Amino acid sequence: MQFVSTRGQSPAVTASEAILQGLAVDGGLYVPAWFPHLAIESLLGATSYPELAFEVLAPFFVGDELEHDLAEICVDAFDFPVPLHWYDEKQAVLELFWGPTAAFKDFGARFLAASMQRLLEKRNRKLTILVATSGDTGGAVAAAFHKRPGITVKVLFPKGKVSKRQEKQLTCWGDNVEAYAVRGTFDDCQRMVKDAFMDRRLVARHGLSSANSINLGRLLPQMVYAFHAALEMFVRTGKETTAIIPSGNVGNSCASYWAKVCGAPISRIVLALNENRPILDYLHTGDYRKRPSIQTLANAMDVGDPSNMERLTHLFGSHEGFSKEVSAYSVDDETIRKTIGRVHAERSYVVCPHTATGEWVRDQVLASGPTVVYATAHPAKFETTVEPVIGCEVPVPVQLSALFDKPSSCREIEADHTLLFS
Ligand SMILES: *Cc1c(COP(=O)(O)O)cnc(C)c1O
Repeated sequence: MQFVSTRGQSPAVTASEAILQGLAVDGGLYVPAWFPHLAIESLLGATSYPELAFEVLAPFFVGDELEHDLAEICVDAFDFPVPLHWYDEKQAVLELFWGPTAAFKDFGARFLAASMQRLLEKRNRKLTILVATSGDTGGAVAAAFHKRPGITVKVLFPKGKVSKRQEKQLTCWGDNVEAYAVRGTFDDCQRMVKDAFMDRRLVARHGLSSANSINLGRLLPQMVYAFHAALEMFVRTGKETTAIIPSGNVGNSCASYWAKVCGAPISRIVLALNENRPILDYLHTGDYRKRPSIQTLANAMDVGDPSNMERLTHLFGSHEGFSKEVSAYSVDDETIRKTIGRVHAERSYVVCPHTATGEWVRDQVLASGPTVVYATAHPAKFETTVEPVIGCEVPVPVQLSALFDKPSSCREIEADHTLLFS
């Protein structure tokens, strides 16, 4: 299998090359050159999530240097449960929050880490990963790369500007994970990472790499749970499902569209957005404009220029093609709060602010068939929003409380990238 750039000006590469490179040399994003058709009957034979992952991903690694490692990578990466929570015979929630940092980012980060570790071993190379984070991604990357031989992770966050629990997820690791509390803003952190990558001497000496969300190695594994959910819905209801996806950089939704193209029994995909709505505006006007991001309660979706939009427009071609396949709704903060309360009252179930956008959309789409909402994070991560609405405490899942109990360590530095290497 080959992967091509969305901008069409880079040579085609294998999955492994795309994973190591991140961005294509023409500045585009890697996408599969073609999509295999996966037969539902053979996927239904998988007896575990890692086995299903292997079945779904194997066609993308045919002829790749990781082809014979893929089964082991899937076992290594997906070592936590992926349950569906059923409200009734037709409606379910896909719980993507049982990984080490309790959000779906763990799937992509862990698959990327397991793949990179093996690629580096084959090359006898070492690597330093730089991540600037305003919250969730950094934690998932730190957790996924923790104790992986040959890899050092440097996580940068703006001092005093992430929540206590988020800070804990960045600073509790130790070993090969170094946390830096930068005296500055998130933009300063991002600029430091950019400056480091511009410094050829540093890049060469430390083998600098990023693990950001446009990496193919984070996107491919997100196809697996789209299949997993749709197959389970299909077995239980005999019908194709409507998948509703809380979206920001649209990585999650892009991977689900890829799964649909490969034959996952999904009738329709609907994007749930917060008040950041450049995609909705594009649907209405045919004119795509990035916007400054707006702060909302669903802060992991506060994106004014979704990085994977380029992959979606590449997949669908014209505005007409895009409009045929993509529908989206925008949900404001007041509605997020109300929905958290309503779901708790009616379903005795607690959702995070991101998942709440999806729950609200579920009521708008009036699907006659089954619907699944992706629950992207555990509500205990957003307790300051959720608990006042539902009027009780959200129990912290064991994987998170284990992190909260670990000691923290981090270095406080000025916003200067050279300090990361001194
Ligand atoms: C990252 C994230 C999202 C948005 O996912 P995209 O793939 O960027 O669209 C939604 N919810 C949570 C909790 C997240 O961490």
